[in-house]
Amino acid sequence: MRKPISVVLIALMVILAAVLITNSFLQSDAAVPKNIILFISDGCGYNQVEAASIYQYGEPNKQIYATFPVQYAVSTYSFSGNGYSSDSAKANFDYLKRKPTDSAAAATAIFAGVKTYNGFLGVDTNKVPVENMVERAEKLGKSTGVITSVQFSHATPAGASVHNSGRGNYEEIARDMLNSQLEVIMGAGHPLFDDNSQPVTEANYRYVGGQETWEALTAGKIGKDMDGDNEPDPWMLIQNRSDFQRLMTGSTPKRVIGVPKVAKTLQQSRSGDDKADPYIVALNDSVPTLAEMTAGALNVLDNNQKGFFLMVEGGAVDWSGHANQSGRVIEEEIDFNDAVEAAIAWVEKNSSWNETLIIITADHETGYLTGPGSGVIQSTAGEKKFVINPLKNNGKGKLPGMEWHIGEHSNSLVPLFAKGAGSEQFHQYADETDAKRGKYIDNTEIAKVVFSLFEVK
Ligand SMILES: [Zn+2]
Repeated sequence: MRKPISVVLIALMVILAAVLITNSFLQSDAAVPKNIILFISDGCGYNQVEAASIYQYGEPNKQIYATFPVQYAVSTYSFSGNGYSSDSAKANFDYLKRKPTDSAAAATAIFAGVKTYNGFLGVDTNKVPVENMVERAEKLGKSTGVITSVQFSHATPAGASVHNSGRGNYEEIARDMLNSQLEVIMGAGHPLFDDNSQPVTEANYRYVGGQETWEALTAGKIGKDMDGDNEPDPWMLIQNRSDFQRLMTGSTPKRVIGVPKVAKTLQQSRSGDDKADPYIVALNDSVPTLAEMTAGALNVLDNNQKGFFLMVEGGAVDWSGHANQSGRVIEEEIDFNDAVEAAIAWVEKNSSWNETLIIITADHETGYLTGPGSGVIQSTAGEKKFVINPLKNNGKGKLPGMEWHIGEHSNSLVPLFAKGAGSEQFHQYADETDAKRGKYIDNTEIAKVVFSLFEVK
């Protein structure tokens, strides 16, 4: 009896070994990106994407990423929420208004793969720091950068790179970012300029780490060793639009922090009629576009042979959503889309889809944006009937018919688009189905994909 069993065992072991070897071959054949560029349009749902497309092109789905091979919806709820239910969203118009995530918890989910309380950045529900994508990429010897159209110490860039149980601790967060291993930081928050890029009489150093930090930064005296040679690697600070544009070509410094001469946002907070149609109020022309910042950041980060991770946030899409500004949300989303186009142009000129992965998504929707005439149309006993109408297409260059339902975030699913090396890894997580949006993943699964591709061996 003994002999046959051992024969069977040996046969099984041979089969097992063969399976393992085949698997490891398959794995080494699977596309692993050298570079990952993750775009977050903060506060951008399906209708914000569509509104910008209708305005810019006269029809929906004309953005450059509309042709990306991987497209799913994403659930965004945080640990402070109640999850997401397709049935509830279908049954009750008000369901999506309830218990949305904030940008801090969403950033922790997207960049670290952990659901946490609203307000928590890069820490779990016990306030324990959790590894983020910037730290993982640095562990692999890659370069890293975070850029945004709002203050650089705001929730999304902070959640990609540091840890804090209070998203409002901007000074501390800014200092932690400046003391991290990041190679590129870009965003608003300039202490000496207002929202129209005009000098202020009273400086506000809150978003750049305090007055002392700012003064040390302008003197080139901030920045720890980031490459392990025990020499400090000070940040080079740039502020003028021409300096951002210069960064887009030629040789670049090791580390760059770009703080354009503007307070809260590049454009969205400028004065003038904030409910005007897009571009009626002149843009601040002395600050860079998000596309210029993205192209500059890529030119710095691609110095590293081991690759890079870059996070680009359209941060003020959310802010215009909070304020229900139909014109400005379109301006902000187009600025974001232009940044995506700049990254795609970089991939096609300087890299390839075999070595770079681009992911485009949002952290949550803001404003519960629909087409006109949506909402509860009648209430009968125990049953509310409602419609959600599409945006009204008024033609290219014309503001579409849009209707906002709240001034806060919603619990709506948001879109995700991906292309390039490893993008097929998203398919395995698309195991839930929404009545409206089809297959969807959870925001924590974006981190699962990135961490599996940026694996520490
Ligand atoms: Zn918001």
